[in-house]
Amino acid sequence: MTIASRLRRESETTITPTGYCRALPIYNPKVELARMPELRKWHTAAYAKRDNFHTCGHSSAAEAIACYLRYVADLCVKPDVKSDRDGCCLVCGRKSRRIAVAEVHSWFAFFCKDHMSSEFYGLALKVWLFREFSKR
Ligand SMILES: [Zn+2]
Ligand SMILES: [Zn+2]
Repeated sequence: MTIASRLRRESETTITPTGYCRALPIYNPKVELARMPELRKWHTAAYAKRDNFHTCGHSSAAEAIACYLRYVADLCVKPDVKSDRDGCCLVCGRKSRRIAVAEVHSWFAFFCKDHMSSEFYGLALKVWLFREFSKR
């Protein structure tokens, strides 16, 4: 077996833990966090959810997917971002220019001011991601 084919096989079989399924990354506050305000924001939010991070794995794929969906909804959504076009609230259909965005999955959806809450965008994102995962 060549090195290239071995590396390819290893990268196909090695799973890199992501989301909550890894130790909470620690960044140097005077270096990384000082230079990257987005990272600092993420780190502050992640630290508040530190009890969700774990390194013991999951006993089933379904459980791992649920864990990842929770992570994305908790820590990867930017709520209340101004859009340059009109859309309809995903919950009530009212016109809105406000979106919730999960850049990591190129996802966004419109919500009115009454429905721009983690309860609604978290659920909408979970449904969308679940469909994406199911396609694979
Ligand atoms: Zn997990
Ligand atoms: Zn609404």
